[in-house]
Amino acid sequence: MPLLDVRDLRAGYGAITAVKGITLHVDEGEIVTLIGSNGAGKSTTLRAISGVIRPRGGQVTFAGQRIDRLQPHAIVRLGLSHVPEGRGIFHSLSVYENLLMGAYTRNDGAGLQADLERVYRLFPRLKERLRQPGGTLSGGEQQMLAIGRALMARPRLLLLDEPSMGLSPVLVETIFETIQAIRREGATVLLVEQNALMALEIADRAYVIESGEITLSGTGAELSRDDSVRRSYLGEA
Ligand code: ATP
Repeated sequence: MPLLDVRDLRAGYGAITAVKGITLHVDEGEIVTLIGSNGAGKSTTLRAISGVIRPRGGQVTFAGQRIDRLQPHAIVRLGLSHVPEGRGIFHSLSVYENLLMGAYTRNDGAGLQADLERVYRLFPRLKERLRQPGGTLSGGEQQMLAIGRALMARPRLLLLDEPSMGLSPVLVETIFETIQAIRREGATVLLVEQNALMALEIADRAYVIESGEITLSGTGAELSRDDSVRRSYLGEA
């Protein structure tokens, strides 16, 4: 049974149907990526999975349980965390306080320190800046904080929306390395990325989304060799 099983998912905003019947799955331990043009419906798919918006149709099953009618906080409690596009950290709270907010669904004091240490190991930069207000971090540091905060909930599945957006090439590398480290430590990752080339490199499998529908799927290696993918998403003529 897949860890995440999405069947015929539909979602939208007002009169707009942005996701028109998407079926995909993510197995435990995989990195799976969704690629597609601007406005294709990638972020909307993640939002409908994590409960940020309510699906209009279809089924979402996580770890054997239907979650498509649950509130976002209940979904986090089951082990599914979403790092949204644009990060959404608390600007006036310190780095440390932001990290603690990520652990709000848990009440085991003992595990907390171990989880903080894990985040510091993945992002040493954050440890140097624990007292600094989140809003004063650089873009890349804010992205690290958003991912670190999500990890504090000890997710089995992490949804990452455009983690490399707006970052310098060196920081993009760091973020992609961290995603692989997160997987090595046992979490499963569903990744939305504009940087299709790097996403396909680290992904076990990938889906292409166009106009709210899946048009192609395969292993990361298969899709990075596919002519239509190369033309549309890897910048080849
Ligand atoms: P991008 O890579 O540009 O973020 P995306 O594939 O993630 O694109 P979505 O953000 O899911 O695309 O958007 C899908 C469609 O839904 C677009 O037409 C977009 O304009 C629309 N949309 C997204 N968010 C909203 C919203 N809050 N209200 C109304 N329409 C929205």
